Amino acid sequence: MLVGTVREIKNHEYRVGLTPESVRELVAHGHAVLVETGAGLGIGAADEAYVAAGARIAPDAATVFETCEMIVKVKEPQAIERAQLRQGQILYTYLHLAPDPEQTADLVKSGVTAIAYETVTGPGNTLPLLKPMSQVAGRMAIQAGATALEKAHGGRGVLLGGVPGVQPGKVVVIGGGVVGFNAAQMAVGLGADVTILDRDADVLERLDNHFEGRVRTVFSSRGAVADLVADADLVVGAVLIPGAAAPKLVTRDMLSAMRAGAVLVDVAIDQGGCFETSHATTHAEPTYVVDGIVHYCVANMPGAVARTSTYALNNVTLPHALQIADHGWNAALRANPHLAAGLNVHAGKVAYEAVARELGYEY
Ligand code: NAD
Repeated sequence: MLVGTVREIKNHEYRVGLTPESVRELVAHGHAVLVETGAGLGIGAADEAYVAAGARIAPDAATVFETCEMIVKVKEPQAIERAQLRQGQILYTYLHLAPDPEQTADLVKSGVTAIAYETVTGPGNTLPLLKPMSQVAGRMAIQAGATALEKAHGGRGVLLGGVPGVQPGKVVVIGGGVVGFNAAQMAVGLGADVTILDRDADVLERLDNHFEGRVRTVFSSRGAVADLVADADLVVGAVLIPGAAAPKLVTRDMLSAMRAGAVLVDVAIDQGGCFETSHATTHAEPTYVVDGIVHYCVANMPGAVARTSTYALNNVTLPHALQIADHGWNAALRANPHLAAGLNVHAGKVAYEAVARELGYEY
């Protein structure tokens, strides 16, 4: 199969669909790969690295869209890209169609077969192609929070690990899923004093077993959140209620009980945020202050570490890309129900029930 990848054109997107290492794997499976010139520059991969891996370089995106049987990307295709998709072509990328009627209409019209990373499933109802981005965001949350705690960034001037003779910073993580677990790992690694709240007793038990006494686990009641937040240096919001907006667990009232210069990092901002005072920010201006409390609410945290994020993403997307290229999309999806769950649009129809229902398409 002729597989292609293009330079991402969404604002501030530096990741790329295929790393040179992924290209090498596809080529070893007997496929040809076409890469738009400069596609890997955001992760420090020059055209030469792709050529060394066996790819051919295309002078522009149009050549890739015109000739390739499968396009592997990161972000949903932008309008100018959608106009170049065609019947029979496979698009394999993040799509997030439910809130995006315009994109959905264009994909339906194009006739493309679109497989969305975010709906590919794994054993036990998991979403393995979303997981690495949560891992990245969770780990980054502590890094971002530690920086915001510095005086020059408006914080209260606390070093999370403390030093001998001085207490470490207090980190409170609300939500103990993928983001929360990874945030806790980083905070523990720095030597901070860490508490994780969750509403799921099994999650609390898993965390307790894993961290062997190095974190406190607390059931997430309103009272527990209020008490712990009041005493925290850094609070990480990491809750998720699938398919719903994040609940506002830290209200504006609670800020006045907090220590001046404490930091809130709202990772759940992409679902509306779990602090009442959160609004989405960008990497260019990541923080703002409300009632003396520093807020960090960047909606696309993994974009800041494009290289790590791209490699983490390719680790989970490549096996499916190989299956699709080796067997064709139809046979690959029939052989693998988890991959089949990724099919969102095919031959002019919405092929994913929740998207069809949300946007009023026949299913
Ligand atoms: P997850 O499903 O693995 O974990 C969410 C956890 O929240 C679950 O353990 C759940 O029990 C818990 N929870 C639900 N309600 C709660 C409550 N009231 N109190 C305490 N815990 C509660 O989800 P995840 O992968 O960790 O993602 C967390 C959030 O981070 C999501 O909104 C996700 O979209 C977001 N995210 C943001 C970025 C970013 O760049 N900002 C990147 C990746 C993920």
